[in-house]
Amino acid sequence: MITITFPDGKQRQYEAGTTGYQIAESISPRLVSEVLAVSVNDKTMDLQIPIRENATVKFYKWEDEQGKQVFWHSSSHLMAEALEILYPGVKFGIGPAIENGFYYDVDLGGRALVEADLAAIEQKMLEMARSKQPFVRREVSKEQAMKTYLDKGDPYKCELIGDLEDGTISFYTNGSFTDLCRGPHIPDTSVVKAIKLTSIAGAYWRGDEKRQMLTRIYGITFPKKSMLDEYVAMMEEAKKRDHRKLGKDLELFTFSARVGQGLPLWLPRGAALRERLENFLKGVQKAYGYQQVITPHIGQKELYVTSGHYAKYGADSFKPIKTPQEGEEFLLKPMNCPHHCEIYKSKPRSYKDMPVRLAEFGTVYRYEQSGELHGLTRVRGFTQDYAHIFCRPDQIKEEFCKVIDIVLYIFKTLSFNEFTAQVSLRDPKDRNKYIGSDENWEKAEAAIIEAAAEKGLKTVVVQGEAAFYGPKLDFMVRDAIGRKWQLGTIQVDYNLPERFELEYIGADDKRYRPVMIHRAPFGSMERFVAVLLEHTGGKFPLWLAPEQVVVLPVSEKFNDFAKKVCDFLNNSELRASLDDRNETIGKRIRENELKRIPYLLVVGEKEEMAGTVSVRKQGEGDKGSMTKEEFVAFINNEVKHLTN
Ligand SMILES: [Zn+2]
Ligand SMILES: [Zn+2]
Repeated sequence: MITITFPDGKQRQYEAGTTGYQIAESISPRLVSEVLAVSVNDKTMDLQIPIRENATVKFYKWEDEQGKQVFWHSSSHLMAEALEILYPGVKFGIGPAIENGFYYDVDLGGRALVEADLAAIEQKMLEMARSKQPFVRREVSKEQAMKTYLDKGDPYKCELIGDLEDGTISFYTNGSFTDLCRGPHIPDTSVVKAIKLTSIAGAYWRGDEKRQMLTRIYGITFPKKSMLDEYVAMMEEAKKRDHRKLGKDLELFTFSARVGQGLPLWLPRGAALRERLENFLKGVQKAYGYQQVITPHIGQKELYVTSGHYAKYGADSFKPIKTPQEGEEFLLKPMNCPHHCEIYKSKPRSYKDMPVRLAEFGTVYRYEQSGELHGLTRVRGFTQDYAHIFCRPDQIKEEFCKVIDIVLYIFKTLSFNEFTAQVSLRDPKDRNKYIGSDENWEKAEAAIIEAAAEKGLKTVVVQGEAAFYGPKLDFMVRDAIGRKWQLGTIQVDYNLPERFELEYIGADDKRYRPVMIHRAPFGSMERFVAVLLEHTGGKFPLWLAPEQVVVLPVSEKFNDFAKKVCDFLNNSELRASLDDRNETIGKRIRENELKRIPYLLVVGEKEEMAGTVSVRKQGEGDKGSMTKEEFVAFINNEVKHLTN
């Protein structure tokens, strides 16, 4: 008999060799109908695999991220089967699950797929899903595996097998299709009820541009038809909110091939927005004891050799800049941290000075592959909102608590109401790849977990996700249409203080190493503006909107009065403009509403006589008449309410 322990701590006895599926059956028919995979001692497995020893068991359903991943990966096999039936001789690369769905890279022998083909593949997949094909696992020797694919004539699979160790290779068969795969998979295909193949792209075999270009087919599947309908509606909405489209419509930023790919140009309205965001963050940071610093865009190559960034970015990014001075080389800065270490070192520090919190909106440059560039979310030059906290080891927890407070305040002010946090710890099985002492790691890991708990964060703890130089806490926000974005990082670092030999003098007059914490609530201004655009659909909160008010005279006769109102608003610290173009009032109202202007003030004869303005609010319509003074007070009150 073996003892199975469940997540709630309850234990039950089973015959050795009982499968996850049988355990689920022993619990409830409902669980059997929902379970997709099982975790046995933290390893996700097929439900059919016999469990032979005492184990902790957790069942994964669709609601679990792991459940979705198994569901989607299994769907990629289903798609491969359909492809093999529809396009005999097709060769297969890899078919993983991704964040939303799955893909398979295939070689169709030069045949180009079109949209109509995707519909036919979906149909075939649905047909086979309904026939309830089980996923059957078979372990094979390397020799057998190789022979199978040599006979089949699939060079990609042969190459993959070549890299595998004998004794670890398995095949999975569903219906007429067999694939090289380590699993796990869903028990059978019948749970796949709705299928959408979303796009086709080119992808180099193994990401190597010198190798064969394969066809990557993306898809997503669901256990219910209604979920697919919701997903399709969400994607439609996402298209409307695409920050690249909104950035253009709202005249926030642009790109120029002449300036260079991935180097955004901020237009006046975008720059105004960004300035406001920076000021907002500076204000919060000041309240939390940060000091603003400014550092240059380049530094000597040696600086980054010392920091280790040269080893990381040197070969694959912008190359060093040479000068007329023989042997002198500078690097465009890929990170601000080394500069801040030198600022820390610019004078002796005592334990009483700690923590030292240095903040900068520092622009950094990294050479991203041109295929990876995407609007403002993947760029080659961007401005980080990183700050660095240099503190004593006993201050880590308190500093984490403070940074969490800042992040939560920012999320609240910008209406990111749903978020989770992830604590990334060391891989307990491979401690050699991390820098720093065990003792330091344990202390910092405990401090982060405690700080997150104290602040009441919904947290997942993931082992093995930490950077080599320290554990971290990341925030994941859910936007207005349910998409997840990673925002906000707080990272402990034992490495740079060591490399830069940073010190402070303790109460006992001895020298100590400070701990460095890198933190960025936004990540970068570019990425954050992109996320904010997609979250708000361009309807920025009033305090942030580049243009808060547009004044619209109903006809030419009232242009002078409208201008006076507009000047008054600007003199009252609001951001207002005048739209006295020779167009109908209806057309001007519509156009300004499309630009997401929060308030439109319409003035005509009645208003001029009474010395008032007629107020329209974005999305809400008529708000009645007010004097211009009343309107300013009204706006200020709303801003105060939003930012407190
Ligand atoms: Zn598989
Ligand atoms: Zn840093």
